[in-house]
Amino acid sequence: MPAPLLLANGRVIDPANGIDEVRDILLLGGQVADPAQAPANVQRVDCTGLVVSPGFIDLHAHLREPGQTHKEDIASGTRAAAAGGFTTVVAMPNTTPPVDSPAVFREVAELIRRKAVVRVVQSACLSLNRGGRQLSDIPALAAAGVKVLTDDGSCIQNAALMLAACEQAKAHGLYVIDHCEDCDVCAGGAIHRGTVAERLGIPGQRRAAEELIVARDIVLAAETGWPVHIQHISTAGSVAMVRDAQARGLPVTAEASPHHLALTDEAVLEHGANAKMNPPLREESDRQAVIAGLRDGVIACIATDHAPHAPDEKGSGLLKAPAGILGFETALAVSYTTLVHNGGLTLPRLVALLTSGPRATLGLPGGTLGLGVAADVTLFDPAATVVVSPADSYSKSRNTPFAGQRLHGRVRATIVGGEAVYSNLADLPGRI
Ligand SMILES: [Zn+2]
Repeated sequence: MPAPLLLANGRVIDPANGIDEVRDILLLGGQVADPAQAPANVQRVDCTGLVVSPGFIDLHAHLREPGQTHKEDIASGTRAAAAGGFTTVVAMPNTTPPVDSPAVFREVAELIRRKAVVRVVQSACLSLNRGGRQLSDIPALAAAGVKVLTDDGSCIQNAALMLAACEQAKAHGLYVIDHCEDCDVCAGGAIHRGTVAERLGIPGQRRAAEELIVARDIVLAAETGWPVHIQHISTAGSVAMVRDAQARGLPVTAEASPHHLALTDEAVLEHGANAKMNPPLREESDRQAVIAGLRDGVIACIATDHAPHAPDEKGSGLLKAPAGILGFETALAVSYTTLVHNGGLTLPRLVALLTSGPRATLGLPGGTLGLGVAADVTLFDPAATVVVSPADSYSKSRNTPFAGQRLHGRVRATIVGGEAVYSNLADLPGRI
């Protein structure tokens, strides 16, 4: 058992319990406990000026193990997650081999047990080999302990197959989360289809590629009565459809990634392939619509889509380079700077987007600081500035368009089950 910790005098923000006040938090026996019960040997950590938040939860991460460990592995990826304040991450199944069977799922679960320094929820594929032709054995995956299904990185194109997937997920109580992309309409677009793509003379992705599948998934949620979660929403049209679906009472949720909040396709001009992701960075009107969705609650969570790629892969030119950027270690600073410091969002709302929102979306444990819950806590300093330095990342990869940027908001410590995994505080040693 970790030693008891008293997090003293911090601004405790616990949106799930409606708390935003300066108070002490006791972590005892791996759980959040009543500070009045602090034992004599408790270690006091001065949190003056810091926000004491439930541990951040990331619904969208690529840890790359098994099979792509030159980009990242479970040890390096979860260390980067810890450095970013995340105590729970949902790992995507597009590994090599993909997590599309109970056997691979169990193998990866064992790797996670041995190597992860934060909690990892491993998702599994909707379709075999993420091929979109035949469903995975969803009942067997459920029996093996899978809770979340997705083909992230690809998208089932056949609506009848997706309908069957949603029905089976419903029958076995699994969450469906979807990377929305109509591959025919997308037609190999490398970045957003707009003036930047035109200027560079490269094929662009229409908004319609995303929006057609968002529309389909909303129809399927209505048809089955089973929730669908839209991953990395990126267009104003998608946000409007999700808003409308929610107003009609349909079980549709969405996440947004920090890069879609902070950047537009103009970033490609400066950062090249380090600003290439899928869905692509869009235009200012889309960026504003996504932020509006986070503000009014249509979008319940910020999810990083942490997607490490090796330098030679990202260096192969805009057309060929794989899509995606690092996300864990910049998520708080990019989101805080964009939404709170520059955008006027309240700090409790930002914390909700990183904790209670994702918790509620996939029915995960954690995300609060209520008495008796697991002692997963993130300490951060909203007043501190950071300069993004990829060389100092815990990730194996370096692909970020935020390198060198001065941002606001710094993670000071990440505590999982009462143990400080990551810390840069003088009076709290971290494990990594
Ligand atoms: Zn995706």
